[in-house]
Amino acid sequence: MASILITGGAGFIGSHLAHHLLEQGHHVICLDNYFTSSRKTILPLMNYDNFEVLRHDITQPLIIEVDQIYNLACPASPKHYQFDPVQTIKTCVMGAINVLELANRLNVPVLHASTSEVYGDPKVHPQPESYWGHVNPIGLRSCYDEGKRCAETLCYDFHRQYLLDVKIARIFNTYGPHMAVDDGRVISNFIVQALRGDPLTIYGDGSQTRSFCFVKDLVKGLVAWMNKGTPNPGPINFGNPEERNMLQVAQTILKLTHSSSKIEHHPLPENDPKRRRPDITMAKNEIDWTPMVSLEEGLIETISYFKRVLNYTQKS
Ligand code: NAD
Ligand code: UDP
Repeated sequence: MASILITGGAGFIGSHLAHHLLEQGHHVICLDNYFTSSRKTILPLMNYDNFEVLRHDITQPLIIEVDQIYNLACPASPKHYQFDPVQTIKTCVMGAINVLELANRLNVPVLHASTSEVYGDPKVHPQPESYWGHVNPIGLRSCYDEGKRCAETLCYDFHRQYLLDVKIARIFNTYGPHMAVDDGRVISNFIVQALRGDPLTIYGDGSQTRSFCFVKDLVKGLVAWMNKGTPNPGPINFGNPEERNMLQVAQTILKLTHSSSKIEHHPLPENDPKRRRPDITMAKNEIDWTPMVSLEEGLIETISYFKRVLNYTQKS
């Protein structure tokens, strides 16, 4: 069994990944500075003997002995990554340097969580990995988009220069249980609003699209990609190609929560991408990965989670 470091291990995706790896019998070290997460999320994992927690900020160097590293540490919601943009870019770039240097010193594989944001507001649809993207380098989203693009460059340079086994996973919009109530991303916002009877806040006219992947599907893909023997950095897209616009998402959530909340339109944020859908041909070919959970199925599980967290009781 391997000793596996997950940076950002207390976060939404990190906590699911930690659980999955613990269930496989691995020793998991969860590193986090709790910027967007809480120790509450990982409390259930404390029941595993082979689970360890480390409070650390990846913008600072780290020395630790492990067999594999998943680099997930970074705020992912626009609300959070725009809160302190300089810290976001430091986490993306200095964090990547620290993690890649650690992996290189240990000569162990590292999977880096990149993002569909590297495609920006895409001119090519759906987005294949070969597309270089359409990104504003000086906008409000740039600290994240350009930070993640620079981190990909670093991954590739460590691979070329030091033959480090790096895997770049370009993750598209992912949702599920363990998202924070105040995360600010669309699925958690709409579910929390619907359950509280508050208006659902659609930014713009709601015609912009996204493709939502259920977190348990994503985790299986990340683990398969990490364990693919051949040292190929990718990148590989991870996402569910089912594309919906935000109005459709709002209506589906209203239906599944039996909520009578109204829909309210708010201004569209700067540089908000109009369309996004992954081309996942490479994931299918390289690691035989396809997401299995439909949006409705995933939403039902996510809604149950938020009901528990919010102590929701159905109004008669
Ligand atoms: P999240 O905000 O729930 O988790 C990120 C975790 O990283 C949090 O626990 C946070 O406290 C921690 N963190 C942030 N900065 C840190 C630092 N400097 N040092 C140590 N820990 C730090 O977000 P998530 O959705 O779980 O995203 C995880 C990773 O996946 C991120 O790298 C994100 O960019 C990437 N990603 C996520 C999505 C998605 O839809 N969820 C899409 C694309 C990419
Ligand atoms: N969005 C929305 N209402 C919200 C939160 C987000 O309409 O309460 C929109 C947002 O403008 C974007 C889409 O939903 O077009 C997805 O936003 P999210 O923040 O989840 O992810 P990202 O923009 O990073 O894809």
